[in-house]
Amino acid sequence: RALAEREFRLRYQPIVDVATLAVVGVEALIAWETPERGLMRPAEFIPVAEQCGLIGELGAWTLATACREIQLLRRELELDIDVAVNISPLQLRQANFHETVAQCLEAADLPAASLTIEVTEGILVDGGEKTVETFRRVRQMGVGVSIDDFGTGYSGLGYLTRLPISKLKIDKSFVDDLAMPGHDRAVAAAIIALGHQLHLQVVAEGVESKAQFEFLRGEGCDAVQGYLFCQPVGLEALREILLGGKGFADAA
Ligand code: C2E
Ligand code: MG
Ligand code: MG
Repeated sequence: RALAEREFRLRYQPIVDVATLAVVGVEALIAWETPERGLMRPAEFIPVAEQCGLIGELGAWTLATACREIQLLRRELELDIDVAVNISPLQLRQANFHETVAQCLEAADLPAASLTIEVTEGILVDGGEKTVETFRRVRQMGVGVSIDDFGTGYSGLGYLTRLPISKLKIDKSFVDDLAMPGHDRAVAAAIIALGHQLHLQVVAEGVESKAQFEFLRGEGCDAVQGYLFCQPVGLEALREILLGGKGFADAA
């Protein structure tokens, strides 16, 4: 019903280049504007959509909407920004997933290289050969694949050499304590070094303080997102931010 009533909407969080502090992309995050309970976060309803078999439809809507909305902005503002879309493991395992991606790109007229799909490591633990094949297919189209919440999924590291991925996203849990000397610093620094050795881009999420940002910059992290720069915002607010065109030099 919520799909039919158009109660879902996407918010976008800017992804900021560490070197230039310019917005180089956005992550699309779904939210549900429920008539009864107000705004619901994805952690509450995505698992339900997965359980009741609606994640395919919901995920396809998200992918199509993100591609369309961001391509319209790219055109209007003549900006070369990327869009990252979170994909549920169940959605990725659908036989025709790569076709859905191709259709969304074509309908939106978004260049494949400007789309990244984000998946968590869970998909790799029990994904098997089919996952490898799906990754290959989307990467062949030119779409990026990013491992979200990297380091939290209990998976072996072997997949990093077997799978055609393009980005690692350092989980917020490792970013939280970066301001203080300790093990999280070691983990974050190691993820950045590992990613670079494998020629992957490394993005840190959940960056809330300048001290965290400074540490990540010092370690050579490529891009960051988090409340220090910008919360996830609606399309119109994103448009205003990008129109301003000044990036986030002030925040850092
Ligand atoms: P994620 O992909 O790791 O997204 C990051 C989450 O951290 C988002 O929460 C974002 O709003 C939040 N965040 C960003 N910066 C900060 C910060 O500086 N501080 C704090 N405290 N939080 C920050 P959100 O929107 O509640 O999304 C939660 C998770 O739900 C996402 O984690 C993602 O796994 C999933 N999700 C979101 N949208 C979709 C979607 O369209 N499809 C699917 N399958 N999953 C989605
Ligand atoms: Mg994500
Ligand atoms: Mg994450």
